[in-house]
This record gives sequence, structure tokens and C-alpha cells, in this order.
Amino acid sequence: MDFELSKEQQDIQRAAREFARGEFKDIARECDINETFPRALLEKAGELGFLGVFIDEKYGGAGLGFLEHALILEEFWKVDPGLSQELCSVTFGAEEFLLFGTESQKMKYLPGITSGEKIMGFAITEPDAGSDTASAITSAVEDDNGFLIDGSKVMIGNGSVADFLLVFCLTDPEEESRYNRHSILVVETTRPGYDADKIEGKMGLRASDTANIFFSAVQVPKDNLVGEKGNGFFQLMQFFDRSRAYVAAHGVGLAQGALDLAVTHVKERRQFGKKISSFQATQFKIAEMATRIELARTLAYRACWLVDHDKVDTKVIAMAKWAAGRTAVEVVDEALQLHGGYGYMNDHDIERFYRAAKVLELYEGTKEIEKMIIGRRILA
Ligand SMILES: Cc1cc2nc3c(=O)[nH]c(=O)nc-3n(C[C@H](O)[C@H](O)[C@H](O)COP(=O)(O)OP(=O)(O)OC[C@H]3O[C@@H](n4cnc5c(N)ncnc54)[C@H](O)[C@@H]3O)c2cc1C
Repeated sequence: MDFELSKEQQDIQRAAREFARGEFKDIARECDINETFPRALLEKAGELGFLGVFIDEKYGGAGLGFLEHALILEEFWKVDPGLSQELCSVTFGAEEFLLFGTESQKMKYLPGITSGEKIMGFAITEPDAGSDTASAITSAVEDDNGFLIDGSKVMIGNGSVADFLLVFCLTDPEEESRYNRHSILVVETTRPGYDADKIEGKMGLRASDTANIFFSAVQVPKDNLVGEKGNGFFQLMQFFDRSRAYVAAHGVGLAQGALDLAVTHVKERRQFGKKISSFQATQFKIAEMATRIELARTLAYRACWLVDHDKVDTKVIAMAKWAAGRTAVEVVDEALQLHGGYGYMNDHDIERFYRAAKVLELYEGTKEIEKMIIGRRILA
């Protein structure tokens, strides 16, 4: 057993830290307020090789694992959750191509997203199909020309800026099992009948794009089917086994970033004639926050390590995702508490971190869904 990161992993971590500190700090607040993301930052991240490092080298990635992807994201999230969300989401769904795509799909779609020239996303959620993904009704009817897609999806990352999206569609409504009725199709957003409505005023992660999207007789060729027809639900679950492992690193990064802000503040702020860091109550808070982060980090790294070693463990991955989300929400609350009233104002970074944290208990499986997965597997 070895808990040390390799020299290469430490180098990647350091490079990601330097990039985030150098590039995010000055623009983060403005991007949050304006709800924008600078395209140049994406291209720079692509040039420096930070995007989708888990993708094979022949498709433009670094041929590394999900642990390395998680290490990069953790460093990014420490500095700013909103910009980091966007930089992670541009390759969101690439896992489906790697696991189930044809060689020509991988060559066509993956190099553009690792270079930062193209943006993708994964559209699963619908107005009446959130946690219950198998109830999705956006339909893709097979005809001589391919598939004709009709329906809508909500809260989709990159919906209004993506070049293409993976779309979880109902293709086999007559199948007896509700888990054999869906398929995953890639849809270029320039196709006639595609429309997107950017969501303004999200609670957090405002620098990242989220949109409601609409498909009105959108035609895609048969070649746009990713994986097998009717196998979409199982493909989706395998995607979640990867994405949840590294989304856990979002929570670890956010929590660590919040703790770092709190530590800086308590060492400067004076009350009752002393630095507030000298109060034992403050020291206890810091100790509890740091310990929780260490626990969440260990679980997140283990979840990623298992994936990278072909030992995917859905239960451990769900534990990592749930624990990291909870840790982020609890730690950021205490971190803001230590800032006092100043933490409530948006000229202090902790305010942005606080608003961002909650999403980690909502997307990629709510905390209840993660606990359902854990409980069912233990009791099975
Ligand atoms: C910022 C942001 C970005 C997002 N990006 C994307 C994206 O890129 N692609 C995408 O497809 N979706 C995306 N989503 C949507 C997200 O995945 C869903 O919000 C999430 O899956 C929950 O679905 P829902 O909102 O419909 O909630 P619901 O499923 O309606 O859940 C409401 C509540 O009921 C609970 N609940 C539901 N079922 C059960 C059960 N069986 N047992 C116990 N409790 C239950 C839930 O845990 C939750 O607390 C995004 C959401 C946000 C906020």
C-alpha cells in the first residue's frame, strides 16, 4: 500500500495549481458577476494539456487516468469553482466515447475538446426525469436517414455554448424493461431544430454555462449513435462511475480552498485585542475542517484509483461523491462563519465558494441517490 502520489502526479498537481493561481484569481469575481467565461482561458488550458487528461494520446489527451484528472480539478476548484466547473465540463461525456464509441467517433470528436477548440456536454436531465433518468422521454425515432429527435432537456452544462452534446434519448419505448429503452446520440448543436436558452441567475458556478435545450425534429445520421441502441441506461451508469469519482475532487478542492481562505482571514483579523486564530474555538473549527477534507480526499483518490485500475466500485465511488459534497457544504459554512459579516459580501471570495458548494449535493446524483446506491449495495 502506498499513499504517496508519484513524482509525475505531483508535477501535474503543481502545474495545475500554478495555472489556476495565475489565471483565475484576477478574473473569477468578474466572471461570476457577469456570468461569462473567457474562451481564451479554455484555449490556454487546452494548450497546456489540462483538459481531459484521461483521454488517450492518439485522441489528443495525455493518456493518464481519472486520478490525474481529479488532481487537476482539485487544484482548479481550490482557486475558483465557477471557472473550474467550465473547464471540467468541456469534456463532460467524453468517457462515453472512450468506453463505447467507434474509432471514427473518437477521432472525430475527442481531439477538439482536449485542445480547447471545441466544447461538449451531456444532456440527460428533463423536466420530468431528474434522479429517475430512466423516465426520460426525449425521443429519437429511427428512420432511413438515422434518428429524428424531439423533446427537451433542462439544466444542461454548456447547452448554449457546446459544439456537440451527447443526448440521452428514448429509442425503444416498447421494450419491456425500462432500462432497455434508451440510447445515447451525439448531436451537433448547429443542426436545424436545436435551440438553447441560457439560464441566468444560478445560485453559484455562474461563470459556467447552463441552459435548457430543445430538439424539434433534429435529424442525426445513424453514425451518431454512441454504443448500442437500447443500451443507453447501462452506458450512462458506467459514465457516472467515472464522472462521480472526479466530481468528488470538486468537493475536496472547494473545501480546501474555503479552508485556505479561512486560515488567511483568522490569522489577520483581530478581536478582543487578539488574532481570532488564537481562540481555541477557532482552532477547533480549523482542525475539524482540515480533518474532514483529509477524509474526503482519501476517499476521492481511492475511488479514482479503483477506476484507473479496472476495479470500478460503484459503492465506493458513490461514497466518495456523497462525502465530498457534504464536506464541501459543511466546510464552506464554517469557513464563511470565520469571516464574520465580511464573508457575506461579494468582495470576499468565500461568498462565491459558499454559493457554489450546494451544487455538489445536487448534480451528478443527489446526496440521497448516492446514499441509495451505497445502502442497496450493502444490503443486497
Ligand atoms: C448547475 C447544474 C448543472 C447541471 N448540469 C447538468 C448537465 O450537464 N447534464 C444533465 O443532464 N443534468 C445536469 N444538471 C441536472 C442535475 O443532474 C439534476 O438536477 C439532478 O440529477 C437532480 O434531478 P432533479 O433536479 O430533477 O431533482 P429530483 O430528481 O426531482 O429530486 C428532488 C429531490 O428528491 C430526492 N429524490 C428523488 N428521488 C428519490 C428517491 N428515490 N429516494 C429519495 N429521494 C429522492 C432528490 O434526492 C432530491 O432531494 C445540472 C444541475 C445543476 C444545478
